Amino acid sequence: MSRVMKFGGSSVADAACMRQAGELVRRALPHAPLVVLSAMGKSTDALFRAARAASNGRHSDARREVDGLAERHRASAAELFAGDVPAEVHASLAQHLGDLERILQGVELLHELSPRSLDAIAARGELLSTTLFAAYLASIGVDCDWFDARGVMRTDERFGAATPDAPALARLSREKLAARLAPGRAVVTQGYIGACADGATTTLGRGGSDYSASLFGAALASDEVQIWTDVEGVFTCDPRVVPQARSIPELSFAEAAELAAFGAKVLHPSTIQPAVEARIPVTVRHTQRPDGRFTTIRERSAATRTVTALAGRGPVTVLTLSSTRMLDASGFLARIFEVFGRLGVSVDVVSTAEVAVSVTVERDAPLETLRRELEQVARVEIRPERAIVAIVGERLRETRGIAARALGALEDIDVEMISMGANEINLSLVLDRQRERDALRRLHAAFFE
Ligand code: ADP
Ligand code: ASP
Ligand code: MG
Repeated sequence: MSRVMKFGGSSVADAACMRQAGELVRRALPHAPLVVLSAMGKSTDALFRAARAASNGRHSDARREVDGLAERHRASAAELFAGDVPAEVHASLAQHLGDLERILQGVELLHELSPRSLDAIAARGELLSTTLFAAYLASIGVDCDWFDARGVMRTDERFGAATPDAPALARLSREKLAARLAPGRAVVTQGYIGACADGATTTLGRGGSDYSASLFGAALASDEVQIWTDVEGVFTCDPRVVPQARSIPELSFAEAAELAAFGAKVLHPSTIQPAVEARIPVTVRHTQRPDGRFTTIRERSAATRTVTALAGRGPVTVLTLSSTRMLDASGFLARIFEVFGRLGVSVDVVSTAEVAVSVTVERDAPLETLRRELEQVARVEIRPERAIVAIVGERLRETRGIAARALGALEDIDVEMISMGANEINLSLVLDRQRERDALRRLHAAFFE
């Protein structure tokens, strides 16, 4: 049985981090680890900037980003190999960088950045980081194999946010990957990237390496999916926003999925679903403090608390729609949601009154098209720069007075929408984005301190 170990960008950000990650892989060798890596911290951002610069004809800006990436990987290599970088490591890094330059030249010539080209560019970060890390592991005596995730991570063609084909992934993993995994050796592969049926490179969306890890875990029936990052597990709130937040020892799959969907960046929103289906525990751990606290996410949690954690997500836009014709409530809702469905806009929080409904949509939703279409059926009011604050806990449904306590804690902060999620483990509040942090701090104080 294998174990998936995913290291995020900050866990492989430089040579010192890679050494630490390497040590953790070495310790885990008896568990036949599949190591799923992100790009070196912030490399993906640099690749996005390079792509945009190239498509706008800003040649020297694109060049600067590529040089920066090249320098960063070469400097880390020099440090990892104590100045004596093997020729084949140089050659593999140079090959990925060369591919990157050629794709950027194409984008620059055409003045066009298609989602397909952007994915081909963005994927270089993971190809580079895994090349370096696998070579480093080999240099410290780990029996190790570099594996191109695109050979098994089959997806559809929605470049930029591709949907994996789980049955194809399972079949291809059995054919190409499973036999490489064995106690005593490590296989190193890329998170975030995949390929569609015609072989073009795709990505699973920003932060998608967590999702890759969980997909690989399910495909291989691993015993555990470990997410190694820069915090000691999932906290009661983002510790950057609420310094008093603390690590939660145990979470249920449902709670983790809600938290991720409502903004807890520590997990990509889709991470939990493959693990749920395969009933594989997911743990979230701190790479630099491997013996410290961590979180285990499994089917059910035995914890008895009412509120498990808070998350905040913004900016979002609120659309309030009120009926102009005297449509009955059900006809009105049907007409409105038909528009969202047709335009492919997903809505998060919904609250309804007799002939009015408010919904939240992502900031990048096509607001003008939405307005035009919705005005056929409704009066439309649009409020941008809002945030969703979510209170999550398995026992919310059994506990009275949570909403009252939450509103009490927020005092003068105006809550514009309030909604209990249909699974009854998430109470969402929508408010002015400027007040999001303040709201999270006050709610944290009320429920946890
Ligand atoms: P990685 O590069 O390892 O994927 P991310 O930056 O994507 O790491 O996620 C880790 C970060 O998520 C933490 O540094 C933390 O600030 C943030 N975060 C947001 N919400 C939470 C939470 N509830 N618990 C822990 N971390 C959180
Ligand atoms: N490197 C990708 C990103 O920065 C994927 C990941 O790190 O999870 O979005
Ligand atoms: Mg992440």
